[in-house]
Amino acid sequence: MLSISVLGANGRMGRNLIKAIAEDPHTSLHSGTVREASPLLGIDAGVAVGITEQNVKLDTLTNTQVDDLNVVIDFTLPVVLSNHLDWCVQHQLPIVIGTTGLNAEQQVALNKASQHIPIVFAANYSVGVNLLIKLAQQTAQVMGDSADIEIIEAHHRHKIDAPSGTALALGKGIAEAIERDHDKVAIYGREGHTGERKQDTIGYATVRGGDVVGDHTVLFADIGERIELTHKASSRMTFAKGAVRAAKWVRNQPAGLYSMMDVLGL
Ligand code: NAD
Repeated sequence: MLSISVLGANGRMGRNLIKAIAEDPHTSLHSGTVREASPLLGIDAGVAVGITEQNVKLDTLTNTQVDDLNVVIDFTLPVVLSNHLDWCVQHQLPIVIGTTGLNAEQQVALNKASQHIPIVFAANYSVGVNLLIKLAQQTAQVMGDSADIEIIEAHHRHKIDAPSGTALALGKGIAEAIERDHDKVAIYGREGHTGERKQDTIGYATVRGGDVVGDHTVLFADIGERIELTHKASSRMTFAKGAVRAAKWVRNQPAGLYSMMDVLGL
């Protein structure tokens, strides 16, 4: 049995993670953290998310004991990431991170921590999206010299970062596959007199609205034909189940920074 701690237990993803851990016969919820002043402190994690009691009272990270804890899962906010990483390094705990929108400093903290503990970091834990990245890389290798590559993503109205971490993972994966420098070729939105499109660019377009869980399309547009590769997530449970799969995998890995591609062996 794998004993897992969910940081940010009351978030949209945290709630799905608690359900996914409860549904999986090989995992159990060790603990769930909430913010210092949360009204949910002391409430049972299962009751808080509308399932049966889990015999785990929601608490702060500072009060969380590490006895019998195997793996931590963190889908929270970039600003609290380095604190969470320090805690995992201090207790030598593997961590699965889903938080997106990291700045350069937070990325450095992640790399540093991975010298001491095993970390899985993925912008998207769904199996389908990781396959999409692989398919987009293969398509780019065949069509990238002549087709224009555009990435279009849509998410719910509450999302605070753009383009999505998944869209960026797609763009970076494609750039790597066809040996382009992503930072030089990425175009984040267009407005006004833009001039003609440069063939080697990778464009991003963002849509925000309603309760869209996460749609991503990679468009390869050539003269006379185009390919559109699309993935649509209809439930956050797909990410939660993928993160639990990653937690099972990372438990026995040496220190290092891993992706969902590593977890899936793609
Ligand atoms: P959310 O705002 O619903 O949840 C974040 C939660 O973190 C909130 O409940 C907040 O109270 C909590 N939190 C913040 N600081 C905390 C702290 N110090 N201790 C405990 N809890 C704390 O957001 P969400 O939709 O659940 O998304 C969270 C993150 O996960 C975002 O960055 C999002 O982009 C990302 N995400 C990633 C994937 C993926 O597959 N990688 C999928 C969905 C969402």
